[in-house]
Amino acid sequence: MNDLPIRSDLVGRSPYGAPQFDVPVRLNTNENPFGPSPELVAELAKVISKVGASLNRYPDRDALALRADLAKYINTESQGAVTAENIWPANGSNEVMQQLLQLFGGPDKLLVTFAPNYSMYEDYCRNTFTNYETANRNSDFSIDQKIIDQVLSRNPDLIVVTSPNNPTGTVLDPAELTYLLDNFKGVLIVDEAYAEFRPAGTPSAILEIPSHPRLVVVRTMSKAFSFAGARLGYAVAQAELIEALQLVRLPYHLSKVTQEVARVALQFSAELQGQVNLLRSERDTLAIWLRDNGFTVAPSGANFLLFGPFGDRTQTWEQLVTEGVLIRETGPDGWLRVSIGTPKENNKFKAALLKVTTNNRK
Ligand SMILES: *Cc1c(COP(=O)(O)O)cnc(C)c1O
Repeated sequence: MNDLPIRSDLVGRSPYGAPQFDVPVRLNTNENPFGPSPELVAELAKVISKVGASLNRYPDRDALALRADLAKYINTESQGAVTAENIWPANGSNEVMQQLLQLFGGPDKLLVTFAPNYSMYEDYCRNTFTNYETANRNSDFSIDQKIIDQVLSRNPDLIVVTSPNNPTGTVLDPAELTYLLDNFKGVLIVDEAYAEFRPAGTPSAILEIPSHPRLVVVRTMSKAFSFAGARLGYAVAQAELIEALQLVRLPYHLSKVTQEVARVALQFSAELQGQVNLLRSERDTLAIWLRDNGFTVAPSGANFLLFGPFGDRTQTWEQLVTEGVLIRETGPDGWLRVSIGTPKENNKFKAALLKVTTNNRK
């Protein structure tokens, strides 16, 4: 690769990717551990054979039917009042985020986000030549007005705030969101990839969209929706902003297959809510168990837990892999992140963790 005439800022970089191993218990990428139900799989098969017959034609460029279905889902899930014109879907929220940066970023723009955070933000900025900076969260991973003031003093064009945050699970305090909305005049992107797992009663930032033309909320079907393999994420914002996004989208970016299978999955959202509730309660039980066993656990409103501290987290991570349990080495040094699995998987994780950590506590 070093002999290729690639862009100078990409030389020596490695592509994004969590290590993937074929082990029995995979709790490393925050997927929903429950696959689609047999009923949903049967419906998917039906729609795919129907779509198959018309794949000679390009898909609906504007994905209007899917956008209407996503709007309906958002209005139920987050008590919003949005319509198809407030929604923009793409191949995963990753693509949506990159489109947002293609539209609002650039070499003369600065994006600031709060660390520790999701590592892809830096890559979207790199890909769009947008300047990238982070501000540190508090030691309990919260954000407060002091930190927001510090960010605002750098005069950013874009701010990304993730709630619940990855990899910490931290839920943004609604008062901090209000403070951001009141004091920031640029484009505020709220990444709500894990929104469905947030504590009951926490309002989604989507409710603020009618009064904030520069607010974009990004959602995905990859996590709670058990649909990571289909690649479907979406932005929610005022219609004018969504219309502007069309400037940078590639023609026919979202395949007919993706649009149609996502619509079928959305019909099953009530079924998924049951899984979300189970995963939430598994998360809370696992957090208590970890604390009872002497670990520190960051309060989480997502489907994963960040826990520690480890003197040598790499060693613990490797020993867990040897035990057949794959989690994620991410976040601040000394911490590890585990996705919430099925009750059976979580038990295997607990047993393996007890076995390997007896001699590796800070
Ligand atoms: C997983 C994740 C995403 C990516 O989701 P896709 O829709 O699968 O691209 C976005 N943001 C955060 C914070 C995530 O953890």
